[in-house]
Amino acid sequence: MIPVIALVGRPNVGKSTLFNQLTRSRDALVADFAGLTRDRKYGEARLGSRPYVVIDTGGISGDEEGIDTQMAGQSLQAIEEADAVMFLVDAREGLNAADEALARHLRQRNKSFYLVVNKIDGVDAEVATSDFYSLGVENMFAIAASHGRGVTSMIEEVLAQF
Ligand code: GDP
Ligand code: MG
Repeated sequence: MIPVIALVGRPNVGKSTLFNQLTRSRDALVADFAGLTRDRKYGEARLGSRPYVVIDTGGISGDEEGIDTQMAGQSLQAIEEADAVMFLVDAREGLNAADEALARHLRQRNKSFYLVVNKIDGVDAEVATSDFYSLGVENMFAIAASHGRGVTSMIEEVLAQF
């Protein structure tokens, strides 16, 4: 079985940066489903010799009204297809209403997810992650996708469940 890992979260949290980190140094893009306002990209990635697939999504716009509208389209599709959902948030911005709405939605759908607090470079990781405890998440990682910090150990832990 080749695990499929979806990257979801509101725009600008660093999903594409993480996607590029995970799929870098190979011609990784295997499919790109363009939507009207967002798309869904599939990339091949590898941990050592172990392959997995990562899905990048355009993000869930906080400007849209209502969780159903927000979750419609490519991001919802990616969540449904995924074996593991990585829910990215921004350590610098802190907890946001769109983050809370997405957490509620994932819980309603009984989708287990990992919370990924990104952009911890230059901030206090303890303080940054504590802002998100109210989401009630069991599995939380703190990373800096643009620097690669914390990324490999996070993927090791996620893949270990399969
Ligand atoms: P997406 O909309 O979720 O795909 O977000 P992007 O990957 O396009 O990133 C949005 C912005 O955040 C870009 O300017 C990235 O360079 C920046 N970014 C992503 N990851 C990090 C990080 O770990 N640290 C910092 N400081 N900036 C980051
Ligand atoms: Mg993106």
